[in-house]
Amino acid sequence: MYRADHGDGSRRLFVDQFVTTQSETRDWASLARQIDGLRLDRSVRKKASQDFGGVVRRTPAAIVDARSSTHEQQVIEECRRLRIPLTIQGFGGSVNGQSLVGSGILLRRKEKTPAPVRFLDDTRVEISGRSRWWDVERRLHKEGMCIPVLADFLGLTVGGTLSVGGYGFDSIRHGAQVDQVERLSLIKPDGQIIQCSARENADLFSCALAGLGQIGLIDNVVVRTIPHTRYTVMYNFAHKSMIDMAKSFRWMANGDAGPDMFKGLYSRGRAVSTYGVGCGTLGEVSNAEPPVDFGRNPRRFVIPQHRFARSLLVSAWVASFGRASRMWVDYVLDYDGLLSFVDFLSTQIGNDAFGGYLKSVYILGIRRKKRQHRIPLEASGAISAPVAFGVGLYSMVPRSDQSGVDHLRAAHATMLEKCVALGGRPYLYGIHEFDENILRQIYGDDYVALQQLKAKLDPDGLFQARKLIDEARAL
Ligand SMILES: Cc1cc2nc3c(=O)[nH]c(=O)nc-3n(C[C@H](O)[C@H](O)[C@H](O)COP(=O)(O)OP(=O)(O)OC[C@H]3O[C@@H](n4cnc5c(N)ncnc54)[C@H](O)[C@@H]3O)c2cc1C
Repeated sequence: MYRADHGDGSRRLFVDQFVTTQSETRDWASLARQIDGLRLDRSVRKKASQDFGGVVRRTPAAIVDARSSTHEQQVIEECRRLRIPLTIQGFGGSVNGQSLVGSGILLRRKEKTPAPVRFLDDTRVEISGRSRWWDVERRLHKEGMCIPVLADFLGLTVGGTLSVGGYGFDSIRHGAQVDQVERLSLIKPDGQIIQCSARENADLFSCALAGLGQIGLIDNVVVRTIPHTRYTVMYNFAHKSMIDMAKSFRWMANGDAGPDMFKGLYSRGRAVSTYGVGCGTLGEVSNAEPPVDFGRNPRRFVIPQHRFARSLLVSAWVASFGRASRMWVDYVLDYDGLLSFVDFLSTQIGNDAFGGYLKSVYILGIRRKKRQHRIPLEASGAISAPVAFGVGLYSMVPRSDQSGVDHLRAAHATMLEKCVALGGRPYLYGIHEFDENILRQIYGDDYVALQQLKAKLDPDGLFQARKLIDEARAL
């Protein structure tokens, strides 16, 4: 029988016991005949037992690689009929087992060849949730367009990042990736497909975005685009300390003033903020000015196609740590919260709370967009200031070092508590540990409403279970 990695719960136990009885008494090979594309090979399942984080291990009983929306609908419908737990996985970039399943079916959604992009007009395109962002972005560039906000690594899937939020260097101007979505088609836990937007099935639209896929599978999506600028002029400012750097962000925290692009990085004791200016031509590059004046000259450099360059750099940075467990977490706060949080973080680093595993702290600005609909679980949504700040703590722990993993889990629990006390929120792809109390504290009635919606759509709790904590116990 599958054992929980951490925590426990009656519902989970129920699902595990149920699956054990089912899977042990049933012949998986006969199930394979019922579900189109089911793969049972041990080596493939073993390979799929870990996500990008490499901390949680859950081996799926079987895997299906999605071929089309119709195929996905059939698989989801069959799982419901046969009472088999099902989990959706994009690239598998979440780090705490959010896209893993033990004793169930893993539905993998990662297009091997680029899916077509449908151009609706000059500012909107329809893309597949199975697409990877680099394919979408490459195709859009051919038409002089781009996605307003992209994460730093472009190999992630459209459905996967929209299920968590999606923030990047451009978020200071354009907000979260989920803010770019106009409508989407959702495959519900019963296999039915429906259209959702702020006006149509708005409750499902709200919970599908940044909702860890708990109420359905994000299939096709209509997203806004903006004109593509080929060059980015970067301005790097060095700061004395992390807190000194955080204080320098005050100018863009309130009101509309702000750069095109922004990030802050603290690594190996050095704090550097970077501002970007998008330029369409080399003429614009020569005329570009730094968006902020700190009374000293920044280091200036120009990068063509900076998103692709950044994605390569991130891959190289990750690879430089070898087979480490990637214990990544991000927190989102307002500006005052950011200052207190960074102050606290500096003290924690000074007290060796991260045991030398914390390799970088990454800060992003996220501009609040006027939303026609709420996105209850989205990390920046609770911040009422014009700009929220994301603080990412990226730790790398050698794979064999279990005490390092435990040590960091404890350090992160302290940071989460601090973040919530400061009115901030966690970013849900990360290695956070939640319990009932903290979830209620963070999401309040929204958390209860989500559980009720889930219970209505998926009464047996087999679809996308165990995303936050044991869901059924929460009611
Ligand atoms: C190298 C790297 C760099 C990153 N950089 C950034 C960054 O700059 N900014 C940022 O915001 N994030 C960043 N992230 C985090 C990233 O956005 C999340 O890990 C995101 O979930 C990745 O998408 P995925 O395709 O890997 O999703 P997965 O991890 O596979 O899935 C995430 C969750 O969504 C569900 N899901 C997946 N696809 C669907 C779907 N189509 N419909 C419904 N539910 C679905 C899964 O079940 C799971 O709960 C980074 C991650 C990595 C690995």
